[in-house]
Amino acid sequence: MPFTVRVADSEITFPCEPREFVLDAAERSGYSMPSSCRKGACNTCEAGLLAGEVEQRGRGRRTARDGSALMCRSRPRTDLTIRPKRFERLDVVRRKTITTRIFRLARPAPDVTLLALRFPIGLRAPFKAGQYLQVIMEDGDRRNFSMANAARDNDGAELHIRHVPGGKFSISTLSKLSVGDPLAIEIPYGDFYLRDSARPVILLASGTGFASIKSIIETAILADKCRPMHLYWGARTREDMYLSELPARWAERLPWFSFTPVLSEPNSSWTGRTGLVHDAVRADQSDLSETDVYACGNPLMVSAAQGDFTQSHGLPDAQFFADAFVESGPSAPRDLQPMTASS
Ligand SMILES: Cc1cc2nc3c(=O)[nH]c(=O)nc-3n(C[C@H](O)[C@H](O)[C@H](O)COP(=O)(O)OP(=O)(O)OC[C@H]3O[C@@H](n4cnc5c(N)ncnc54)[C@H](O)[C@@H]3O)c2cc1C
Repeated sequence: MPFTVRVADSEITFPCEPREFVLDAAERSGYSMPSSCRKGACNTCEAGLLAGEVEQRGRGRRTARDGSALMCRSRPRTDLTIRPKRFERLDVVRRKTITTRIFRLARPAPDVTLLALRFPIGLRAPFKAGQYLQVIMEDGDRRNFSMANAARDNDGAELHIRHVPGGKFSISTLSKLSVGDPLAIEIPYGDFYLRDSARPVILLASGTGFASIKSIIETAILADKCRPMHLYWGARTREDMYLSELPARWAERLPWFSFTPVLSEPNSSWTGRTGLVHDAVRADQSDLSETDVYACGNPLMVSAAQGDFTQSHGLPDAQFFADAFVESGPSAPRDLQPMTASS
């Protein structure tokens, strides 16, 4: 018998099987709530638990007395009342598992690979710009990577992969892959995509967090959506900002788009902005109350931006959207503590 999950301050209820995670049950019923890693590591899906009891995988039981729970890891033990940070109607997620072919492999920076995948002829996999897919390795192990291509180009996927020391996919698997090889994926996942609004947008990327931001901007360009967008992209060095000529070109030709590259470890020839990328936003934008912020990449950058912008720059919680690139291997739920805004 499924339990009933009630969403506080609304008439909404949805069923959740005892062995089902609350996030999966919400999506199955056609709703979306904040989520990112789906491993209990990034904290994005934390929601108020107002009534009932859940079993959080790997972390034990939580009740209303604890106040909150991670929806991606929580299975109900009773009927529940939850208060997510956002709760929206969604087209029921129709994920596809696809055997793709590698179409292009490039190395635009020493520790970044650009991987272009093509789907079998005639197959398309709709996604929203900003979402991610899961690469499925031969032993079934999965890793998350964001699509960098425009949502309209859904007969393939472009991925920007940072090489993680000891990485099972980004080092071991990737080094053996060549053009023409098969690669299995499941697509799409994620709650990080541009919401409709007239407010100006700040896009905040660090490192390969540029992937999903690129997808959002290229989708906006193709749709001829002229909402003001300002990209701040942070990296350590000029070489690490692996495609910076692309947003520089957009800024030259699009009146609604501007670009600020920010380097934290520049060499002496760099004349642009320096320091941490979210500090550049803080320096430029004293009041964010009428702005939407989309942040993607390093988890520490994402949580620092969320904390600073909402606490000191007037950004409402509901106007901050993020994907924190935490590790997505199987060890994530066991080894990582959930991140807090101050970590
Ligand atoms: C929603 C989402 C979207 C993502 N999109 C992208 C993307 O577009 N591009 C991209 O480069 N990455 C992205 N990531 C991060 C990527 O999924 C992980 O870094 C992944 O674990 C790398 O797999 P791997 O097999 O190479 O390394 P693993 O075998 O998983 O890890 C090897 C070692 O590195 C550590 N590690 C792995 N990743 C990280 C990390 N991010 N931070 C700190 N330590 C780490 C592990 O603890 C382990 O010790 C995304 C993550 C999420 C949650």
